[in-house]
Amino acid sequence: MSEFTTFLLKVSGKCNLNCSYCYVFKLADKSWKKQPPFMSTEIWQTSANKIKDYAINHQLKSIGINLHGGEPLLFGKKNTEDLFNYFESIFRQTGINISFGLQTNGTLLDQGWIDIFHKYNVGIGISLDGNQVVHDTNRKFHSGEGSYEKVRRAINLCLSTEKNREVFSGTLSVININSNPLETLHEFLNMGIKNVDFLFPDSNYSNLPPGKGDFLDTHYGDWLLEMFDEYLNLNNSNISIRLFDVLMTLCLGYKHNMDVYGITPIEILVIATNGDLHALDSLKASVSTYLGANILTNDLNYSTINENKLGRVQAGGYKSLSEKCKNCDIVNVCGGGYLPHRYSISREFDNPSIYCVDLYKLIKHINAKLIAMKQYS
Ligand code: SF4
Repeated sequence: MSEFTTFLLKVSGKCNLNCSYCYVFKLADKSWKKQPPFMSTEIWQTSANKIKDYAINHQLKSIGINLHGGEPLLFGKKNTEDLFNYFESIFRQTGINISFGLQTNGTLLDQGWIDIFHKYNVGIGISLDGNQVVHDTNRKFHSGEGSYEKVRRAINLCLSTEKNREVFSGTLSVININSNPLETLHEFLNMGIKNVDFLFPDSNYSNLPPGKGDFLDTHYGDWLLEMFDEYLNLNNSNISIRLFDVLMTLCLGYKHNMDVYGITPIEILVIATNGDLHALDSLKASVSTYLGANILTNDLNYSTINENKLGRVQAGGYKSLSEKCKNCDIVNVCGGGYLPHRYSISREFDNPSIYCVDLYKLIKHINAKLIAMKQYS
C-alpha cells in the first residue's frame, strides 16, 4: 500500500504576486476564499504531531515537509523558524529523517531568510520563467509591475556565497512556447543556476494550454525536445534539468517517485491554512481538492482519506489511468502525464494528458537517444 510521504503546509493563504496562471487563486478550486490568511500555531503544531504519529505508525524512514502558499515568506521569519524548530524537536527522538523544502516567488527573500533556511537545512526553489520579457508576461505584482528584477536579486543573493548556495535547490519555470528554449536554458546557466526544472502549464481539456490549437500539435514537445538535445550536447554533470533527468531515469527502467511522471501513486497530502486536508495542490486547476477532512478533527489515516473519490484517483497510480494510457508502449515512463492535465468535465480524470502527443514525441526521442548512446559507448 502506498502512503503519504510528503506533507505540504499552506502556511500562507495570501500572495504578493498576481500570476496569470496561478492555480491557487485563478482556476477551478475556490477554497482560498474561505481560508484564513495564515496558518495558526494550533494548526501547524497539530499537523506536526499527527504527521509524527502517522510516520511512526507507517514505519516511514523519512518524510518531506514543504511550505507553500500563496507566498510562504509572507508567513514571517519568526513563525517560520518556530515551525521548523517544533518539527525538528518532536521528530528528534523518532529516528525519522525530515527534509524541509519551500517554494517561493523570491521577491521577499533576504539574507535573514537564508540564514533561517541554512540553520534548518531547508532547500528552497525559486520560480523564474525565463528572461525579463517571458517572466514578466505572467508573473506580476498586484500593481501590474513585473516581478523579474526582484526575483533576479533573490537569485543573485542565493548564488553569492557558498553558504547561500547550499540552501538553493534551483529554479522552477512554467514553459512558455513563445520563448526560445535554447536562449531560455542559456539565460539560466549564464546566471550561474545549476538546477532547473520546467513544468507544463496547468491546463486540461476544458481549459486548453496557451498555443495549443488542437490536441495533435506538438509545440510543447518540440520546445522541450530542442532543449533536451542541447542538454545532452552540454554534457555537463554539474547541470541538472530535473524533467529530463526523471524521464531518462524512467526510460532506463529505474524507479522514480516524482508526482509528475511515471505510474507510482502520488504520495502528497496538502494541509490548508485552516487545517483542511487537500489532494495534490495543482489539481486546483481542475477541481475542488478538499478531501472532506480537517487536521484538527481527523487523523491522517490513509484509508479514511482514500474514501474520498479524488483521494482514490490520486492514490491509484496505474489503476487510475485511461484505457489508452494503459495500452500505451511508454506508459511506465509517461504515466499518463501529470494528473491535473488529464481532466475533462465529461470524463473527469479518465483521459490521457492534454499533452499526450507532446509527451509521446519527447519520450520516444529521449529513449532513442539513450539507445544510440548505449550502442556507441
Ligand atoms: S503518451 Fe499519451 S497515451 Fe501514452 S501514457 Fe502518456 S498520456 Fe497516456
